[in-house]
Amino acid sequence: MKFDCGCDFEMLDFDNVNLECPASWDLLGQGLTKGLFQIEKQLGRRYCKRIGPRNIEELAAVISLIRPGCLEAEYREDPSTGKMLNITDTYVKTKAGELKIEYIDPVLEPIFKDTFGVPVYQEQIMQICTDFAGFTLQEADSTRKAVGKKLVDKMAEVEKDFIEGALKMGHSEEKARTVFSWIDKFSGYGFNKSHAVSYAMLGDWGAYAKVHFPREFFKNKLAFSDSNPDEFDEIKQLVYEAKLFHINVLPPSVEVGKSQFSFTESNDLVFGLSHIKGVGVKSLKTIEQLKGITTSYDLFKKLFLDKKCKVKRNVVQALIKCAALAIPIDRVKLLARYEFLLMLTDRERNYLFDKSLVKDNSVTEMLASIIENGIPRGNNRINRLMETWADIKRDLGGNRKRMALAWEKYHLGMPLSGSEVELYNNWQVDTTCQSFLSLKHNDRVKVGVIIEEIREIKDKNENLMCFMKVSDATYMMDGVTVFCNQYAKLGWIIQEGKAVLIKGRKSDNSKGTGLLVNSIEHL
Ligand SMILES: [Zn+2]
Repeated sequence: MKFDCGCDFEMLDFDNVNLECPASWDLLGQGLTKGLFQIEKQLGRRYCKRIGPRNIEELAAVISLIRPGCLEAEYREDPSTGKMLNITDTYVKTKAGELKIEYIDPVLEPIFKDTFGVPVYQEQIMQICTDFAGFTLQEADSTRKAVGKKLVDKMAEVEKDFIEGALKMGHSEEKARTVFSWIDKFSGYGFNKSHAVSYAMLGDWGAYAKVHFPREFFKNKLAFSDSNPDEFDEIKQLVYEAKLFHINVLPPSVEVGKSQFSFTESNDLVFGLSHIKGVGVKSLKTIEQLKGITTSYDLFKKLFLDKKCKVKRNVVQALIKCAALAIPIDRVKLLARYEFLLMLTDRERNYLFDKSLVKDNSVTEMLASIIENGIPRGNNRINRLMETWADIKRDLGGNRKRMALAWEKYHLGMPLSGSEVELYNNWQVDTTCQSFLSLKHNDRVKVGVIIEEIREIKDKNENLMCFMKVSDATYMMDGVTVFCNQYAKLGWIIQEGKAVLIKGRKSDNSKGTGLLVNSIEHL
């Protein structure tokens, strides 16, 4: 099979991965790292985008650079701003050619030359110990251990030896202290290179599988979503990213779906039945009995009259709520009828079935008929029935579309048949979350979204600001930034789950990509 990227193979074979496949490296450079080993989280995504690795060596560097040690260690002053850059950002800028590679001492040049002038791996730290402070290999190794294990007492001793050693080698104390501060920050976090390279291989294999066989990639990742501590969050991220690969995930279906995520004939992915909240693996066998049922009458006959049918009540409710049954009536209506029949006694229900009243009649008609014919015994019973029915009606009386989406969110982790954004009048909206991706730096946008996540932080002046993750039916994006002035004014609108209209502009430069918010209002 010949692919656009130039690769030519039939099956995925990890012994024969084309490490030069441009499509795989492009994918990483676009930050589409969901599901890829070690780089799938926000930091990995952001730095893959900023650094744009084009080979294993550079990807290994990314994996090391997003560890806390490199992110925390102040390393060099940025001449354009006068601010200190950490190791990670120094690498980003030197690799991009925005900052000249400089060494505070010529001894460091051979050690750092392969990593754009910054320390990235533990091996480099060891080499600094031998070449800069004159340690023996053994001393360097015990330094590595002390650094790796964060032995606080040992570190003080190592620092003293390091400074003394560096002084003996003819370096100034100031320089020695600076170099040691990098080592100190590496404590417990620095990767050794072989480790980072093997992780990078796994990351690249994942990217390779994803660009050549995206459908299978997402199907398998979704199948294993339950190994994640937050299964629904994992599903949500995968489903949204799959949209960028033109893969649609449909709500679960008893007819065409399977226990796991699977493909339909038209090549859409169907939600796996075993991933529905409320449908246990044990109930999967019983659900089989509901296959082929296409009318509510047949469904109720099966559930209430067939003694062999053992589908549990909460399972039926979950299936109705996410429209997994093949019955073409509104799920709110179907649920109301089911709840009504559930509250009846056998005698009351049998009467309705005998008289064929379950078939086409509304609940109100069914209720009137059994009352008229004196089937419920006694006035108390009649009153109870009327009250319970009033309760059901009240519970199911809201906006149907909104209710359906909320049910899907509860049982599937996210609405799959649409987005709550669609419930609102969006005449001002001019951009979707997905089309935002292809806009340019400084382009202005008006986008209608649901706020998925809010992360508050303090800016450098100790004022509160926030980052948001937002979604519509097309994609879920992060990096939506509300600076402190706006946040002070608009904070009250910003709540998780709210549908809002955001006006702002796209920022897309070496610092990252995001949406800078000018104003937010309720949709
Ligand atoms: Zn390829």
